[in-house]
Amino acid sequence: MNLVPEVAALDPELRGWRHHLHAHPETAFEEKATAAFVAERLAQMGLEVHTGLAGTGVVGVLRHGTSRAAIGLRADLDALHIHEQSGVPHSSRNEGRMHACGHDGHTTMLLGAAKALAQRKRIDGTVYFVFQPAEENEGGGRVMVEEGMFDRFPMSAVYGMHNWPSAPVGTMAMRAGPLMGAFDIFEIVATGKGAHAAMPYQGKDPMLFASHAIGALQTIVSRNLHPLDAGVVSVTQVHAGDTWNVIPNQVVLRGTARSFKRDVQDTIERRMRTIVDGIAATFEMTATLRYERRYPATVNTDTETGHAIAAATAVVGRDHVDTDPMPSMGSEDFAFMLQAKPGCYVWLGTGTGPETPSLHNPRYDFNDDAIAIGTSYWVTLAEQQLPAAR
Ligand SMILES: [Zn+2]
Ligand SMILES: [Zn+2]
Repeated sequence: MNLVPEVAALDPELRGWRHHLHAHPETAFEEKATAAFVAERLAQMGLEVHTGLAGTGVVGVLRHGTSRAAIGLRADLDALHIHEQSGVPHSSRNEGRMHACGHDGHTTMLLGAAKALAQRKRIDGTVYFVFQPAEENEGGGRVMVEEGMFDRFPMSAVYGMHNWPSAPVGTMAMRAGPLMGAFDIFEIVATGKGAHAAMPYQGKDPMLFASHAIGALQTIVSRNLHPLDAGVVSVTQVHAGDTWNVIPNQVVLRGTARSFKRDVQDTIERRMRTIVDGIAATFEMTATLRYERRYPATVNTDTETGHAIAAATAVVGRDHVDTDPMPSMGSEDFAFMLQAKPGCYVWLGTGTGPETPSLHNPRYDFNDDAIAIGTSYWVTLAEQQLPAAR
């Protein structure tokens, strides 16, 4: 392990920041106190600070030397609507909200990197420290891109990082190409005709639609996709009926679809529409499909992945960098930034064994032992990409 000395010295302070943020979680677009905490520290470090991006986003700017080269490093600020059960002393003070995805750790590591890079003065160029709101579900990263963040802060590449509890602390993983899936949601509403359950011939039973549709939707992945292409269709909600002896008028199905490639995503949506229309016609009722593409796949570019591998290797050593991990069907709104700019999103190992709670688990807590590693990665990446003449 090759921690940056200034980062190792900051480690106790960074752990304190992380605990403060963990105890005061805020959810999508409401990260006011978190944004103020970030802005205040960036200003104390002497950085130029921009607030109010996508509502509660913050960008810190560190310029040094004469080069016009610039890169962006990004963290996310938001927490989740979860009742914390971790039992740690720094547990959430905001009931019903919890940093169960480790964005408290991400924010801390990026702040720590800003502080260490400002102290070391070893870059020639500009680093933009991007703290985005609303990563979970609400696409704060998309809003920042649409607001023109990359015009306001021109950079040649943007980098992201997420803690990964299923990988051991002291390791990192990244790959060129897709690392996280596209995230779509769908809602199907089938409307038949309610009737007495003892006289079904007098109605059009939407329950029959539901039972056939759920099964048929599973044929999209098994029968329509190339066997070597990845896709997921999960029906996660069925809503219909109130009692034993009434056939309801309507059934609502909801769920999510995941994919890595645009043509797979197109196939899933197209086949879903055909299946919904076909089953509705079969049972003489109407059905509507609302299919919404929320986050695209997170796709790393080749050159920048090479840069990320170089920085990770310098910190944790070649044997602890996995350059071909199995991609995840989870999703990430950093994908919108990668659609606009070249870059690389990496996983930072935070696991301590099979008992480590997963992301979004109420017993989860970011692993403090990973803070200095992730922070050293950011510092090393910036100094390698914006090298000062020695
Ligand atoms: Zn999450
Ligand atoms: Zn997350």
